[in-house]
Amino acid sequence: MFVDVVKIFIKAGRGGDGRVSFHREKYIAAGGPDGGDGGQGGNVVFVVDDHMATLLDFRMKRKYEAGSGEMGGGKRCTGKNGQDIVIKVPRGTLIRDAETGALMHDMSDDKPYVAARGGRGGWGNARFSTPTRQAPRFAKPGQEGDARRVVLELKLIADVGLIGFPNVGKSTLLSVISKARPKIANYHFTTLAPNLGVVYVDEGASFVAADIPGIIEGAAQGAGLGHDFLRHIDRCRLLVHVVDVSGSEMRDPVADLDAINEELRGYSETLAGRPQIVAANKSDILPAESDNLVRLRERCAQLGFPVYEISAAAHQGVDELLRAVWQALCELPPVTVYEDELVVEETPVLAERDISIEVRDGVYFVTGAWPEKVIQSVNFDDYESRMYFERVLRKAGVFDMLEKAGVAEGDTVDVCGCQFEYVY
Ligand code: GDP
Ligand code: MG
Repeated sequence: MFVDVVKIFIKAGRGGDGRVSFHREKYIAAGGPDGGDGGQGGNVVFVVDDHMATLLDFRMKRKYEAGSGEMGGGKRCTGKNGQDIVIKVPRGTLIRDAETGALMHDMSDDKPYVAARGGRGGWGNARFSTPTRQAPRFAKPGQEGDARRVVLELKLIADVGLIGFPNVGKSTLLSVISKARPKIANYHFTTLAPNLGVVYVDEGASFVAADIPGIIEGAAQGAGLGHDFLRHIDRCRLLVHVVDVSGSEMRDPVADLDAINEELRGYSETLAGRPQIVAANKSDILPAESDNLVRLRERCAQLGFPVYEISAAAHQGVDELLRAVWQALCELPPVTVYEDELVVEETPVLAERDISIEVRDGVYFVTGAWPEKVIQSVNFDDYESRMYFERVLRKAGVFDMLEKAGVAEGDTVDVCGCQFEYVY
């Protein structure tokens, strides 16, 4: 079975918690804090695997989770990072955010793509010691990893799409032009799956052709496969429109050509406007009295499509056709790679600076996702860094909020677990 759209759930690993620990050694009474940071959560990474031709594997497994980071250790040891989870997909798979449909990435090249980032590890208590607070008894918890539902959609990458009615000889043509080239063996040869073949025209001149079944087959069977398969020729630079010019199956080549083009238009005007070269196939059994070829040539002249008379089965005229295809490809832009519409941030952006202030037992607690983020980037051992922290809080209006809440000189302010004396 050919599966080309699936929805899966991906979750990056949680960051490990920071450790609270104190240095211990024989004969040393009270060592300093030495709790290490938690490890990073693992990422969810996609890679292209050219041995895969469909998204079938994803029907069995829908949930993909990366490993969590481990907790920090004593002696300032950082916890182990969580394991990335690597998800293999066929080349040409689009990854979309399921909720918005926005394109996250087009898996067309060999670069791994990080679709969900692991949470940061929390800081151990060693990071929180300051000259005035030498025994911090707290550490930070790790952050959650990104999680989202994504839709994987396969859009094959081929320069040339072979289109046409069933039995006109598309598969035969593909097997003739890419036959005896072992490189094509990557793709399964099943009736309902598109087939890809590498076509060598000459030294340094080759292209990828796809034989798409079911433009009309599926629609005729009411299976609704017709348009589903058309997505695979979306990216093709050129279409080779195969028609049976012999009339061997009691069909009319001109009517067939028009019917398929109508079908293309129904799917997308852009696709219908793609350059086409017509392969008038089965010319070996064209009856001498038939006017099929003449009428086909007339119609194609109107449409501006070049016509090549061939017999795929008898290997006639195929070389001329391939040379014309190659010539045309040389003048066409490269295969479309879709631009990312949704960028997965290094650290998730916070829509609002959510900050809240609460007073308990005379202590002013500042909490929220924003101060939480900020405090993780501060090194309290470092004067410059502490000054920076203060400036950022002031700029964000935290000081104003504290004043409004009634803070006075000398009061204790707790920002996400770090306590300070308020000095105006
Ligand atoms: P597809 O459905 O378009 O992929 O068509 P196939 O490649 O499966 O071919 C359908 C039938 O037409 C097969 O029996 C082929 O042997 C036959 N056929 C294909 N090309 C030619 C040709 O050039 N001449 C003749 N006589 N028969 C052909
Ligand atoms: Mg076929």
